[in-house]
Amino acid sequence: MLRPFDYYRPRTLSEAIKLLSETGAAALAGGTDLLVNIRSGKESPQVVVDLKDLPELHGIHLEGDKVWLGALTTMGEIVNAAAFRGPLGILSEAASVVGCCEIRRRATVGGNICNASPGADTAPALLALEAEAAIRGPGGARSMPLPAFYLGPGRTALGPGEILSGFFIPRPPEGSRGTYLRRTRVKGMDLAGIGLAALVIPGHGKRNHEVRLALGAVAPTPVRAREAEILLQDQVVDALSLTRAKEVLRRSISPRATSLRASPEYKREMAGVLLEMALSKLLGEEYAG
Ligand SMILES: Cc1cc2nc3c(=O)[nH]c(=O)nc-3n(C[C@H](O)[C@H](O)[C@H](O)COP(=O)(O)OP(=O)(O)OC[C@H]3O[C@@H](n4cnc5c(N)ncnc54)[C@H](O)[C@@H]3O)c2cc1C
Repeated sequence: MLRPFDYYRPRTLSEAIKLLSETGAAALAGGTDLLVNIRSGKESPQVVVDLKDLPELHGIHLEGDKVWLGALTTMGEIVNAAAFRGPLGILSEAASVVGCCEIRRRATVGGNICNASPGADTAPALLALEAEAAIRGPGGARSMPLPAFYLGPGRTALGPGEILSGFFIPRPPEGSRGTYLRRTRVKGMDLAGIGLAALVIPGHGKRNHEVRLALGAVAPTPVRAREAEILLQDQVVDALSLTRAKEVLRRSISPRATSLRASPEYKREMAGVLLEMALSKLLGEEYAG
């Protein structure tokens, strides 16, 4: 049974911030995490503030050389958005594996990040894209790189009364390609036991590419794998560089990253497998692994 709570659906950002600050309410986006938690008794807010009518939290558009992605954008909208094809396609690939069709119609990207699950599927893609989190609150507007937004499992940098309004995503150069791969326990609906996002940004010639890697469900928060990135940067990816990068990637996985879905040993093994799959997909002929 759903515990009773007071429900507000403000029409303005200032009203929402006031309600959140004064009542310590829970913010509601799609509700696919929050309502499940309320139903199970994991959370029991007295007040819930629905964010859906706040125009500042919607939309996908270009702002200079960055794409603005409103926090309330659903997974389904990301999958269908022209902006998230090509260089930014990595995010729609990640959004496309979340839950099922019904969940993707409700679940928002902002909720996925604010829920701060280490295995949230859009997080590695947003980390690889170097997205910035945009925040509105009693003190005005502020923004921060996504890694700073994550403080731990279920914990974010949002202060009292603050709302994640969206993300600024720098558009990688044309020709950049990314992929998001994950392993789940079952073929149907399941959360990631491990997820890996890889983005290759081409340079001039075979060696001048940048490789960005980010992992989900391997540490208390989703993480960039910078050490492994350095080993692949500006290199022809051959058997040797791949073996080194896999080793570094495996070592970056916390020995305490155990979950219902996968042991740390499994995650370490699969991190290497996913890296090899991703590079072979993204680098094609250049890949000599
Ligand atoms: C059946 C099922 C399958 C699922 N499968 C997957 C999956 O495969 N992969 C995956 O990653 N997740 C999965 N999920 C989890 C969930 O769907 C996602 O985390 C979803 O993106 C959460 O978004 P939401 O809009 O529903 O958030 P809500 O449930 O509304 O909110 C989640 C949390 O974020 C806070 N919040 C939301 N928006 C904001 C905001 N703008 N500012 C401040 N705080 C905010 C809320 O207060 C709450 O604490 C699944 C869930 C279900 C029920």
